[in-house]
Amino acid sequence: VQGYDGRKVAVLGLGRSGLATARALQAGGAEPVLWDDSPEARARAEAEGFACTDLGRDAAWQGVVLLVTSPGIPHLYPAPNRHIARAMALGVPVDNDIGLFFRSWAVADWQDFDLVPKVVAVTGSNGKSTTTALIHHILQVIGRPTQMAGNIGRGVLDLDPATDGEVVVLELSSYQTDLARALTPDVAVFTNLSPDHLGRHGGMGGYFAAKRRLFAEGGPDRAVIGVDEPEGVYLANQMAEGPADDRVIRISAGQKLEGEGWTVFARKGFLAEWRKGKQVAAIDLRAIQGLPGAHNHQNACAAYAACRSLGLPPRLIEQALTSFAGLPHRSQTIASRGGVRFVNDSKATNVDSAAKALQAFPRIRWIAGGLGKEGGIGGLVPFLGSVTKAYLIGHSARDFALEIGTTPHEICETMEAAVTRAATEAEPGDTVLLAPAAASFDQYPDFEKRGEHFAALVAALPDHAG
Ligand code: ADP
Repeated sequence: VQGYDGRKVAVLGLGRSGLATARALQAGGAEPVLWDDSPEARARAEAEGFACTDLGRDAAWQGVVLLVTSPGIPHLYPAPNRHIARAMALGVPVDNDIGLFFRSWAVADWQDFDLVPKVVAVTGSNGKSTTTALIHHILQVIGRPTQMAGNIGRGVLDLDPATDGEVVVLELSSYQTDLARALTPDVAVFTNLSPDHLGRHGGMGGYFAAKRRLFAEGGPDRAVIGVDEPEGVYLANQMAEGPADDRVIRISAGQKLEGEGWTVFARKGFLAEWRKGKQVAAIDLRAIQGLPGAHNHQNACAAYAACRSLGLPPRLIEQALTSFAGLPHRSQTIASRGGVRFVNDSKATNVDSAAKALQAFPRIRWIAGGLGKEGGIGGLVPFLGSVTKAYLIGHSARDFALEIGTTPHEICETMEAAVTRAATEAEPGDTVLLAPAAASFDQYPDFEKRGEHFAALVAALPDHAG
């Protein structure tokens, strides 16, 4: 990291991105002042040879010119974290690793890199990881040097030196875009928008505002924008000088976008690209195993459009798409036993992603619940027609039971009980689907652990079950 040579920079939060930040600051000659309220996190930093300094003490702030914080730490809503509040009171600017990355990137010789690669940044409520991994996969298959970082994979300040023609693909959550002081990707992608993380952003407007920051005036050279919600339409219109401006590629899962601009849309299992009123390419997505369901067709459109805007030809992108295996914990079929399919969609932590999963399969035995989100799951009621029975777990089990009303359900409390009951009651042709519509933190450290637990329980089912 350039620009902080000989100066003190506080780093709050010592997870993966915090430690990468500390290393990068040190490599650039800065003096990182490290802190995390968790002793375990501090121990990890100390094991790497860093010293920690309690940011709760006045003396620690002497000479600090910048605070770099981790994505999970609230900086404004529902209330600022106490260390951030102190930085604000002292007039110390607050940034995160993403902002630091873009600010240093603009400077020549970023981390002594000779080459400045192109950056594609992906945001949106759902489909970010899948779209990011898909773009990375396509580039890899085509043979373009590429690295993936951000909310997926490694921290941005952990990237290796770039090679010629490299494309860096970043997944950025609203927790990252809201705070970054600079956001200047070459290509910015907005998949879709639905309510999530509202407490952190002070409501839906704040949540959208956080994501929009990637598309500020003077921002990306090209924007790929999902226009299936009013916010996306608004954003696309704001970015473009009229409907024919091909600085924006509009994408949709379901709408026919055949106007004069540049569009990529999926309908009935086919992806179509249109430009200036003419169809340029069409791809059959139905046979691609790694991309089940209309929501994944939206992700395919986003990744395809991002690759097109990098100048890649349709045929090569098509070939690369077909070998995408999908990501774990996202609509992932993990087993088929006695005619019953088991699907792990532990990453379905909000209403919209769970709704997509509920539409992707017939006859569902639905395992749901966890730490419920603001707004409840009332939005799922229209999609419960395919649910034979719900098996409710976690903190939100009783609230969910009230909200789903007449749909048959049972309070199971634990994943063990839910898997056992669902597997015992399932009939051939049923799908046992974990799509919690809730965060995992009441019972698990993260959604991956929840999905792994589900998979382990499924693997351990006695043969007669299901
Ligand atoms: P993110 O990184 O934005 O959370 P993921 O690709 O990890 O996105 O998917 C998160 C959840 O949303 C999973 O349950 C997945 O099946 C579902 N999902 C994936 N793509 C979409 C989409 N385009 N629209 C709605 N839900 C999606």
